[in-house]
Amino acid sequence: AAAEAAGSFAPVELDMTTGARGSRHAHVARQVCSLTGAEGAVVVNNNAAALMLVLSTVAPGQGVAVARGELIEIGGSFRLPEIIESGGARLREVGTTNRTRVEDFERALRDAVAILRIHTSNYRVEGFCEMPSIRDLATVARRWDVPLIHDTGSGLLSDEVRFEIPEDEPSAASSLRDGADLVLFSGDKILGGPQCGIIAGRRAWIDRIASHPMMRAMRLDKIRLAALDRTLAIWRDPSRARAEIPLLRMLGISIDDLTRRAERLSPSMGADVVATEAFIGGGSVPGRGVASVGLAIRTSHPDALMDRLRRASPPVVARVHDGAVVFDLRTVEARDDDHLVHAVQ
Ligand SMILES: *Cc1c(COP(=O)(O)O)cnc(C)c1O
Repeated sequence: AAAEAAGSFAPVELDMTTGARGSRHAHVARQVCSLTGAEGAVVVNNNAAALMLVLSTVAPGQGVAVARGELIEIGGSFRLPEIIESGGARLREVGTTNRTRVEDFERALRDAVAILRIHTSNYRVEGFCEMPSIRDLATVARRWDVPLIHDTGSGLLSDEVRFEIPEDEPSAASSLRDGADLVLFSGDKILGGPQCGIIAGRRAWIDRIASHPMMRAMRLDKIRLAALDRTLAIWRDPSRARAEIPLLRMLGISIDDLTRRAERLSPSMGADVVATEAFIGGGSVPGRGVASVGLAIRTSHPDALMDRLRRASPPVVARVHDGAVVFDLRTVEARDDDHLVHAVQ
């Protein structure tokens, strides 16, 4: 879809029925709404941009209540508190690292104009901990007449197409159903689409966000819009999503299949078949492994082997575990099995 859009004319802002200027978001917005139950949606460059744009629309120069346990740093040392303040909002921290209650938010709303929940995408708080549900916070938000914003991060759209992704990964649809006014998430994590950030929720807020001057600086080009449009169309059909979204396909491979492939490849790679634990990663499902099967090459210089594999063509990225170089077959497309053998040889 991206290549097609790149190589030809695309009616990005032309309404083809009326011939008048149209909205570049209308197509993908309709699909996001039908997948999540939102009233409206817009897309921007990435989820960090989505967060800045939402806050500068909803709380310019004003306080936003965020739980202390959710002030996360995402990959590449980007810190949510810094993104929030760059968006022009003032951070109003509530609760403690492990426990935050509805009353903490309620107190903060004397000088905050929005509640922000941030999915703890890459760590877990366990033990003596407490965090109000979206449903409870929605009640508080209604009472104070402020919006409840939920940065769900990883971009699971709905529970209908969840497959093996654990329940603790929030979906945009369930968050909206539980009363969030706006949800925002990445297009290139679980969703498997192009880099982008999707904002979905109440029509009145979406309209204000879409007409914010910063929108112009964050919007998508026709190539990424085409890729996103096609990706969302795939999500609308669960069996296609299972087959065509790489993450969902990889999660669906059985241990038997992986073992059969590993046993076929092991002699020509000089590797042992081992049980492994794979991680979804990419800002989702922290600390939860997925049972998998790998091939392990024992060598006295694993880092030297890793170096050479990275410089192969195509490059191979493995991991070192217990002194062995391990290839987790859940992350290798079956059609690439023989390329892997070739690279190792
Ligand atoms: C990944 C992530 C972001 C940033 O998303 P990008 O699309 O990479 O900018 C923001 N918030 C949460 C909770 C995330 O997991």
